[in-house]
Amino acid sequence: MINMSAGQTMMTPSCLRALSGQMETPIYYPAYWDIEEETLALSQRLLGTGSDVLFLAGSATFGEEAALRSTMEPGDKIVVVNAGVFGQVAVDLVSIVGCTPIEIKVPHGSRVDLAEVERALRADGVRGFFAVHVETSTGTAYPLAELGALARSRGILFLVDAVSSVGGTAFRMDEWGVDVAITSPQKCLSGPQGIAVVAVSDRAWKAVAAKKTANNSLCLDLTVWKRYHDTKVRAMNQAWRDDAHEPHVAGRAKHEPSPSGPLVRGFHGALADLFNEGIDHFRRRHEVSAKAVREAVRALGLRLVAQEEEIASAVVTVFYLPAGIYEKDFRVRLLKDWGVAIGNGEIGPNNVRVGTMGVGAQPRFVLPTIQALESTLRSLGHQFDPGAGLRAAESVFAANRDINWSRVS
Ligand SMILES: *Cc1c(COP(=O)(O)O)cnc(C)c1O
Repeated sequence: MINMSAGQTMMTPSCLRALSGQMETPIYYPAYWDIEEETLALSQRLLGTGSDVLFLAGSATFGEEAALRSTMEPGDKIVVVNAGVFGQVAVDLVSIVGCTPIEIKVPHGSRVDLAEVERALRADGVRGFFAVHVETSTGTAYPLAELGALARSRGILFLVDAVSSVGGTAFRMDEWGVDVAITSPQKCLSGPQGIAVVAVSDRAWKAVAAKKTANNSLCLDLTVWKRYHDTKVRAMNQAWRDDAHEPHVAGRAKHEPSPSGPLVRGFHGALADLFNEGIDHFRRRHEVSAKAVREAVRALGLRLVAQEEEIASAVVTVFYLPAGIYEKDFRVRLLKDWGVAIGNGEIGPNNVRVGTMGVGAQPRFVLPTIQALESTLRSLGHQFDPGAGLRAAESVFAANRDINWSRVS
């Protein structure tokens, strides 16, 4: 089978090896601490940041909720760009933690109006700004550099859902003025599902420290995860190296939540493969693979949700099916007849999503997927020039000779 979904992607070879290794020690030994430290350093490079990066146990959404709970005060106003399902999740989370969302509604697949964002951020009492980098439900990318500049000019904390974008899209946390970035290994990084990666700027830590209201959560508290890393990993590792006593940690409960040792090891493997290939090469093959899918979709006479080529994402392509075809029926056919799994239609019953994430972003997976799409569309009565999709995709790959596909793990 081929997994071309937009999450829980196929995993890299080193990730798979790491996941199948024995748990020779629990996570309270240097063997694990060294891996966690290395994974952290690689994550900082990936995200373009010198700030703290935390590995919470849980899916990416845990990281989003923890970020809001830890940095915001109940009653705070937070401007949220809502351009699809994940924008809506952010709006809902803002309310769940007791804050007030100010929504900027963006039609599916459209650009965000920067003037509207600027006006919204200027309203009285706005403390936070939340944006989704790539809205995975529509396959549309949003301009973080511009959005970050607007947040910075108002001194407002900038929180970013970068779950699906990181790896397949350039991400420069410090340069763009992002305060909290949330991502996870199971999208473009082709690592295991179950870790929320949360990067936290110094400005965000100041907001955490200044908070007057208790967080009321142990597991979704960024300070707990930072304390875990600083004391139970970094200081303990040093104590082992120095042959010293275990350092005393003030304020820590007897037991606090733990990261998942096996998953951090798997994530480490995935990042090792990414940096071995080279981060620019890795990103380029996402751009080219997604472009190949888009050109194929157009050649088949179908319409993309992303309304302009410039804002179409490099990690997932979302398109409308011919009238009358229900997305689930289409995916069932694709899976049963060809062993190809794609993403469901999240914005309605008439669209599907083809991920070009991590391992999947290569011709050896993209081309069979397009063949399966063509065959399934034909069997459902859609009219098009047979082979047009494959030819369009092939010519995109042929035109981008800077990529050396043999470098991919
Ligand atoms: C997948 C995804 C999420 C949710 O991730 P989980 O790990 O399932 O919690 C959030 N935001 C975006 C943009 C995503 O693509």
